[in-house]
Amino acid sequence: MDENNYDVIIAGAGPAGTTAATLLAQYGHRVLLIERGQHPRFHVGESMLPKSDSVMKRLGIAWEKGNLKKGGADFIDEATGRSTFFPLKGKYRTFQVERSVFDKRLFDNAVQHGVEAHQLEKVTLVKCRADSVQIETDKAQYQGRYFIDATGRDTLMGRQHKSIDKITHLGKFALYKHYKLAHSIASEALFATGNAKVLLCDIGWIWCFPITEGRVSIGLVVQKETPRKLKQEALFDHYIQGSPYISELLAGSEDLLGLITEADFSYQNTQRYGQRFACCGDAAGFLDPVFSSGFYFALKTAERIADQLHKGLVEGIEAEPDLQQSGDEFFQSGFKTVYLMIERFYCSNLVQNLFFEADREQKIKQDIVAILAGDLWSEGNRFQQGLLRGRNVKSK
Ligand SMILES: Cc1cc2nc3c(=O)[nH]c(=O)nc-3n(C[C@H](O)[C@H](O)[C@H](O)COP(=O)(O)OP(=O)(O)OC[C@H]3O[C@@H](n4cnc5c(N)ncnc54)[C@H](O)[C@@H]3O)c2cc1C
Repeated sequence: MDENNYDVIIAGAGPAGTTAATLLAQYGHRVLLIERGQHPRFHVGESMLPKSDSVMKRLGIAWEKGNLKKGGADFIDEATGRSTFFPLKGKYRTFQVERSVFDKRLFDNAVQHGVEAHQLEKVTLVKCRADSVQIETDKAQYQGRYFIDATGRDTLMGRQHKSIDKITHLGKFALYKHYKLAHSIASEALFATGNAKVLLCDIGWIWCFPITEGRVSIGLVVQKETPRKLKQEALFDHYIQGSPYISELLAGSEDLLGLITEADFSYQNTQRYGQRFACCGDAAGFLDPVFSSGFYFALKTAERIADQLHKGLVEGIEAEPDLQQSGDEFFQSGFKTVYLMIERFYCSNLVQNLFFEADREQKIKQDIVAILAGDLWSEGNRFQQGLLRGRNVKSK
């Protein structure tokens, strides 16, 4: 066996890359996973969706271990005093994780399943040919039967193909910090429920996710022009201090990381697959942090690609450019629902017009919970049907 020759080569060992790698190794394929950084590495994206559960089971990851149970999602408008809560329980059980710890766990799990993993190695060029793929890194060259791009927002193949379409009307940039909370009634209540909180503000919204052991992730997502020319730190402080709830929660807290900024995060990769390659997770597209769908889509796209690729490798048809077409179409139908929901969130007051009204009709509330849980491919969801038909889905 040529030691630099693999069935599948994957760039990026985030949740998408490690999921694809583990599943393909479980099928018995020889997999090389190449990661530019080194685990544990910091990553934003701590709030998970319940429908990730089936993938976690396939990976053999007991995600309830060491992670905080997420009770549900609170949407709050402090300016008007209105709020609503969407519970996540029973079949919709989920968690909030410290990504540096959890991503390392997924990575170690991939290695335990027989994946060959290289860290501190960057993929620099991918050549997909009719007979093989050739991969160049900053350290070596490899050959494989198939390449999976799981490089996240680096979008290696998207940049190579110039196939990234920016989406400009969703969140524009995010500013966030991790804090260690002081003991208080507010912090105790937050950790007792494990609820993710979305607080509306005039330029966008604020997230507040309890993670574990008093650690909390708080971020400001800006969508509208900022009213004042404030520098980022001052802008963050202005909105954090403007929220009575967050101010109370952060009293006596310790800032653990300093301010982090992420910008231009909404895009779609229009060339998600082709001859001997496919893109999963953020490398295929990312919408917006608001409904915490990124990690879930990373897992689901990786799973779909790995299952389809396994069949292709067994049948020797992995070079067919359309190998991933039907799976991609199926996936895009679910992705569209979340896209439309996010668009309504920013452009037509979804929370005020529908979420706050949904308590009046339990069926609509349940339908919204299902979509917030990532249950995107079930029949008979009226909220989803309304979104897809372009209707204003009022509860009455
Ligand atoms: C502000 C913000 C808040 C968010 N909050 C949430 C949330 O609460 N919940 C949620 O589910 N999602 C959230 N997300 C999205 C979530 O973080 C991502 O969707 C998720 O991490 C995608 O996983 P991935 O594996 O595709 O990419 P990543 O997790 O980014 O992993 C990609 C990996 O590829 C490596 N890499 C990059 N280039 C190369 C290269 N050339 N060679 C080798 N390796 C390379 C990187 O080092 C990285 O480890 C948020 C996103 C943003 C921007």
